[in-house]
Amino acid sequence: MLPVITLIGRPNVGKSTLFNRLTQTRDALVADFPGLTRDRQYGIGVVGPQPYVIVDTGGISLAETGVEALMQRQVQHAIEEADHLLFLTDARDGCTPGDLDIAQRLRRLDRPVTLVVNKSDTLDPVLATAEFHQLGLGEPVAISATHGRGVRDLLEWVFAGF
Ligand code: GDP
Ligand code: MG
Repeated sequence: MLPVITLIGRPNVGKSTLFNRLTQTRDALVADFPGLTRDRQYGIGVVGPQPYVIVDTGGISLAETGVEALMQRQVQHAIEEADHLLFLTDARDGCTPGDLDIAQRLRRLDRPVTLVVNKSDTLDPVLATAEFHQLGLGEPVAISATHGRGVRDLLEWVFAGF
């Protein structure tokens, strides 16, 4: 069985953009509006000699009804089948109440999590990640999913822990 890496985080933080970069496809829809990915999306990535399964999700929501609740169940399933979670946040938004809520839930799981600060683009990584230490999920890793900056290092870091 290939290791399963699952992308989670609020809508619009760049999960699908990172998925596309890791799988080198355009299978995941990337949008300027939140909530477009309604379900899980599976792809294959490779780091060095190691292939892995990458899973994109529609984001975690607190809503209890309708489509939002369905998405939340899908995300729950995705988390259960993951070997490693990449929790994406957005450097431009900073650390939001939604991020704090997700972090609180993740700290209760016994799954390895790497905290990722996406959209770091041209920002200094130390400054971009500083406020995310408060999420209590270890050292945040700055990346830019659109530019590709930090992405290879991130995956090498994840697999060093396997
Ligand atoms: P998702 O909802 O988490 O899947 O987010 P998407 O991948 O759909 O991206 C949401 C928006 O953020 C899109 O407009 C992306 O182009 C943009 N985006 C994603 N990654 C980056 C990044 O590294 N830098 C910048 N500046 N924008 C990004
Ligand atoms: Mg998406």
